[in-house]
Amino acid sequence: MTQEITLSQGREYLAIPGPSVVPDAVLRAMHRASPNIYAGELIEITRSLIPDLKRVARTEGRAAIYIANGHGAWEAALSNVVAEGDRVLVLATGRFGIGWGEMATGLGAEVELLDFGKQATWNLDQVAELLRADREHGIKAVLATHVDTSSSVRNDIAGLRALLDAEGHPALLMADCIASMGCDRFEMDEWGVDIAVTASQKGLMTPPGLSFVFFNERAAEARARMKRVSRYWDWTPRGDPQEFYQYFGGTAPTHHLYGLSAALDLIHAEGVEHVWARHQRLAEAIWAACEAWGQEGPLALNVADRTLRSHAVTALRIGSPHGTALRDWVTAHVGLTLGIGLGMAPPGDPAWHGFFRMGHMGHVNAHMVLGMLGGVEAGLAALGIPHGTGGVAAAAKVIAGARQAL
Ligand SMILES: *Cc1c(COP(=O)(O)O)cnc(C)c1O
Repeated sequence: MTQEITLSQGREYLAIPGPSVVPDAVLRAMHRASPNIYAGELIEITRSLIPDLKRVARTEGRAAIYIANGHGAWEAALSNVVAEGDRVLVLATGRFGIGWGEMATGLGAEVELLDFGKQATWNLDQVAELLRADREHGIKAVLATHVDTSSSVRNDIAGLRALLDAEGHPALLMADCIASMGCDRFEMDEWGVDIAVTASQKGLMTPPGLSFVFFNERAAEARARMKRVSRYWDWTPRGDPQEFYQYFGGTAPTHHLYGLSAALDLIHAEGVEHVWARHQRLAEAIWAACEAWGQEGPLALNVADRTLRSHAVTALRIGSPHGTALRDWVTAHVGLTLGIGLGMAPPGDPAWHGFFRMGHMGHVNAHMVLGMLGGVEAGLAALGIPHGTGGVAAAAKVIAGARQAL
């Protein structure tokens, strides 16, 4: 009698675009008894987090911490500067851009949505036209997703700032960096971003539950002009607390703070610039594999133009039902979990099964990426999905060349 063996026993690898892999140093830092929240180490750690976070966001502005996921940071940021009836412009290149816009609608804002689809970046000419038509400067904020995690499109935030300046439009530039901070180059101050939001569970390598809003002076002035702001979301006491509890509007997220502190130590020990370069090189290895597989058969990168691709997540199209079949196969046989296609087709539509994503954000190195790609290549072969040869070899070649090039 023959019995099928599976090879999934061993350390599991969650390669989805968030939550990302949590480093052992972060897990160890969190494994402790509850600390005192009124005095002692936790207070010092929290104070030290603020400059460490700002160094990752590349800003001299202020930072507010929320006990929330990314959706909470979306709402927090909007709540401080957008009142009921205010107009906001949303530039969408995937599901997350649309989601932030929906959050603004829920707060009573009048949302103007420019939807550029799931495979392209913004058309800045179209944005310029809309801004020019807004002669009264009624648009209070532009909501821009740096990397849309559903499509893996990476957008040009600095280019958008240049456009706002060229048009002389005073709208606040708000950037969603949840998928990009700590992965892709992001320069809040240099790029002229007024408000940036991010969360703990992606490039920042900490379990979900913390999110962050960075804001500059212009944004603080806009906040000061608001008639009222929900007390819990108000960033003013959080960004400049007189008492420790004001950092969090209540009890501190004790263990998360230890974890985040360890994660930021890892980032700063490596160096933010090096972190970005590592993500870029690993992404290039992944693209090389995907391009080789795509020479034959149905697999294709969702974003054709390399310069528009995220370095932290890669969305793929492979045709139904191959996406779901491949994900299921690698989970069962490789101990690897890949991301679902998000927002590419409605759930329930058979087309939904034709997509998947690879997450490569945060605590990821070359052997993990090669292992992930090897698992996918094995899955393509096992399932008889036609594909070009040499995917893993192409990725190894990129990694082999990394030393000279960096
Ligand atoms: C993950 C993500 C979000 C949502 O974050 P949650 O923590 O799931 O609420 C929003 N925007 C982007 C770009 C993301 O990657």
